[in-house]
Amino acid sequence: MHFPNMAEPAGRTLGDEETAALERVIRSGMLSSVWGTEARALEREIGDLYGARHVVACSSGTAALHLSVVAAAPDPGDEIITTPITDFGTVAPILAQNAVPVFADVDPSDGTLDPDAVKRLIGPRTRAIMAVHLFGAPARAGELRALADEHGLTLIEDCAQAWLTELPGGRYAGTAGHVGTLSLQQWKHITCGDGGLTLTDDDELARRMRLFADKGWDRAAGRSHESLGLNYRMTELQAAVARAQLAKLPGVVASRRHTAALLLEALRALDGVAEADAPGEAVIRLPRPEGHAWWLLPLVLPGGDAPELAAHLSAAGIPARAGYLQEPLNRAPLWGRPVYGSSAYPLEGYRPAACPEAERLVEATLVVIDWNEHYTREHVDAVAKAVASYPNLP
Ligand SMILES: *Cc1c(COP(=O)(O)O)cnc(C)c1O
Repeated sequence: MHFPNMAEPAGRTLGDEETAALERVIRSGMLSSVWGTEARALEREIGDLYGARHVVACSSGTAALHLSVVAAAPDPGDEIITTPITDFGTVAPILAQNAVPVFADVDPSDGTLDPDAVKRLIGPRTRAIMAVHLFGAPARAGELRALADEHGLTLIEDCAQAWLTELPGGRYAGTAGHVGTLSLQQWKHITCGDGGLTLTDDDELARRMRLFADKGWDRAAGRSHESLGLNYRMTELQAAVARAQLAKLPGVVASRRHTAALLLEALRALDGVAEADAPGEAVIRLPRPEGHAWWLLPLVLPGGDAPELAAHLSAAGIPARAGYLQEPLNRAPLWGRPVYGSSAYPLEGYRPAACPEAERLVEATLVVIDWNEHYTREHVDAVAKAVASYPNLP
């Protein structure tokens, strides 16, 4: 059975609307968002959807995260606390601003930042916390925001995998922190190839991000540069496609939620499978469905046999992998090497601390199954059947 994936037309929602949007922009003769209307319209539409006062469109999710680190304004050598289970796009902007990433350990049930672990790492040089809503599951953003406020830190929420993820109370992930970021890269819920967005209610943070995305150029002030900035602008082509995709986003997330709920219902009935928080032993623990946007569908095997289940599922034709990353980012090969030229500043002698829960998830307990809005009842049944035949279940 073929599982539609994000790298083919059958696994995406790209169609006539996107083609028409591209044609509209090309025929207008204006492809740059500095003078065009599409990127500004996309920002308004995202702002309305998320209830955010300011939205800055930019060239990628990584660029959006760089803008948010710029907004947090660390001095060189200041520390930003983040998670070791994420895309490198979360961490690279910390290095780009000459700040020091400090990896906090994660909740072993879902791989999102553990607020207690974050709290233990807050020190005199801490400037910001970057949380990731991993695989579409809501991170504990409310607790992290309270910690950030208590210590005068900026909370950044990386929602690249979490379009329309809901936090307890129903507000969208990305609106609990000082800045939220989204990605439009090929493998996300909606795409224009590459693209990013930042959300904030804070006028000053928005001003810093807008300037940095456009060479520090305040367009209202003439040809005059206020501050360091790069060119992180989204093009009109990207924005027009993103707007067409945005109209399809609620359907994409609703469909993923529907089929994920069907799978959880089927798996729940199996011996040896339990909810994340159920007491007692279990071979497989299910993700908490509340608010989840199902970018991937994660399973946790507390006994450490995730590679075995992943191999079993793959052999049955299910698109599943163990660990998500080759190694958690606190164990990436780059630490201890120069960052700029021959200089390791500000990381001389720096080695990230151990994060035992993150390391165990990646090495032994986490399986991720690719999820897609085009899955049907037949795909769900095939996944459930493959899990049910896993020999380690009782
Ligand atoms: C994809 C992703 C990014 C980076 O986004 P790009 O658009 O690829 O630059 C950052 N963080 C997370 C959690 C991601 O999944």
